[in-house]
Amino acid sequence: MKNHPLDICAAAEAGGYFRQIEALYADMDRVYDEIAGGYGFSCTGCADNCCMTRFYHHTTIEYAYLLSGFFQLSRHRQAVCLDRADAYNRELDRAIRKNAEFRQMCPVNEDGWCLLYAFRPMICRLHGIPHELAPAGRGKTFGAGCAAFEAHCGDIPYIPFDRTPFYTRMADLEGRFRKQTGMAEKFKMTVSGMLRATEKGAP
Ligand code: SF4
Repeated sequence: MKNHPLDICAAAEAGGYFRQIEALYADMDRVYDEIAGGYGFSCTGCADNCCMTRFYHHTTIEYAYLLSGFFQLSRHRQAVCLDRADAYNRELDRAIRKNAEFRQMCPVNEDGWCLLYAFRPMICRLHGIPHELAPAGRGKTFGAGCAAFEAHCGDIPYIPFDRTPFYTRMADLEGRFRKQTGMAEKFKMTVSGMLRATEKGAP
């Protein structure tokens, strides 16, 4: 299979992977909402907007799903997002060259809203509340909540939130998809990089 984004999207859809990732995302959202609700925490945007964080994504299946949403935007919206992705990537290159801090709004965030909310990747769904992770063969690690969480709920006792089952299911989905498509290259991209990979004007 060619690695053009349209081919990757078509293969994922034909193989039933979009239905599977939707089920996985729905489970993540449900558990996240339950636990965030337990703290009385809701994310309504803040100065430390996590959409300005440089997140890297590591699965081709999430890439395919995000792009399937992107391709449903109007041509005009796609072009606007691609222009923002260009600016983002220029700024990121500059920050990397100068070893400087990088804060830039994700190119699909418009006026505080994610244009691809239903298609957003896993880390956009799980970020914000304290969590634990116990990958096979490695010790358990704990991660803190975001700055807004710590400011509003940091003194509330930890409510267990284990990300491991979600990571495991995502890795299984990715492994099966890669086996089917023969894709072997490592994958590490920002949302901005994903958009630019579509090449301006595609499809
Ligand atoms: S994909 Fe959506 S939720 Fe994720 S960083 Fe971009 S705008 Fe924010």
